[in-house]
Amino acid sequence: MLIETHGKLYDPTICVTRSCNLNCVYCYQKHKGPEKMDFQTAKGCVDEIFRSYSKDQYGGVLLKFMGGEPLIAFDLLRQVYDYVHEKYPDEKKMLFATTNGTLLNDEMKDWFREHHKDFYLGLSIDGTPEVHDHNRSGSYGMIDTDFFLENWPEQGVKLTISRYTIPRLAECVRYIHFLGFQKVRGVNLAEGNFDWNEEETVRELVVQLRELVDFYLEHDCFYNQMFDRQIELCEAKDRRKIKWCGTGVSCLFFDVDGKRYPCSYFTPMTFSEEELRKINTLDFTNEELFGEDKCFRDCYIYPLCPSCAGANYQTNGAFGVKNEIHCKTQKLIALFAADLKAKQMIRDPEKYDPDTRYHTINAIEKIRDLYYDEFREYGI
Ligand code: SF4
Ligand code: SF4
Repeated sequence: MLIETHGKLYDPTICVTRSCNLNCVYCYQKHKGPEKMDFQTAKGCVDEIFRSYSKDQYGGVLLKFMGGEPLIAFDLLRQVYDYVHEKYPDEKKMLFATTNGTLLNDEMKDWFREHHKDFYLGLSIDGTPEVHDHNRSGSYGMIDTDFFLENWPEQGVKLTISRYTIPRLAECVRYIHFLGFQKVRGVNLAEGNFDWNEEETVRELVVQLRELVDFYLEHDCFYNQMFDRQIELCEAKDRRKIKWCGTGVSCLFFDVDGKRYPCSYFTPMTFSEEELRKINTLDFTNEELFGEDKCFRDCYIYPLCPSCAGANYQTNGAFGVKNEIHCKTQKLIALFAADLKAKQMIRDPEKYDPDTRYHTINAIEKIRDLYYDEFREYGI
């Protein structure tokens, strides 16, 4: 049975291998190694997942696989698929793996073609062949993008940004869309081991974001998670604190040895065993710990500024204290997302109901009033 895509999903992850055939410039996994999960362990994880899943709360199970590179463990993926379908035929479920796309051979392609309706493969690609090769170990030529388009045409590709990408960002995004992908998701701003606040970086980003606003204004059939913000939420009177993700609740993570962690960030791939022991004493169901009090209290664009509790913890030792580097980038993106929205509204005002139009216009004006001056020196 397929999941209800509009509902909230129970989305645990199983790490099938730590091994990866690439060495990407921004990879955060400190503990790569040859370890692989065995089938017995995988069955135990699947059983625990279906045992802990509450049908009242979720529209189905989105069972995700990650690595390393999950296709290194293709045989295991196939075995788990069969096991899940045999043992839990009536549960709503979907399987998913993000891949670098470089290991797909004919046998794998045949298998995924046959199962593409309930096993999605999400592709990570960083844009033009030149940028992709720089970031991801010269691997562009090993990817069959048509295979992904043929089987999962609606699937968004994951683009990760390195320092090298920034002055080429607009070109990379356009390239992905013109390959035929409608959606770009997971544009991971503020990741990577470089300074997002450095003057030159911000200046270059401004140029790229401006180009992208023009591009999306002309091509509104395309979607980019970075600009798709509900700006009107900033005007909500009953603003509530937000826990942005299901870490420790719905996004559980099972490592290659079957050990369970709160999510893919709070694992031995990122933290030491000692740090993890301390983290595991915290209550992940206590939303107050994730409340980002200062941002919630003081910042107008709080509802547009999601953050990763794992990244927060890694930088500041607390789930709810955001990284200042993240802050500046988010304000800049909010300015450009507001600019795009303003231009879209002027062009198609009837697309918005009067209430949304009213709140969106107010939010656009306030975002501009609050943040424009901060970026004037960068040539915004
Ligand atoms: S803490 Fe970060 S990695 Fe973990 S589920 Fe939340 S957003 Fe994802
Ligand atoms: S923009 Fe900065 S202050 Fe505002 S919510 Fe994001 S991190 Fe907090």
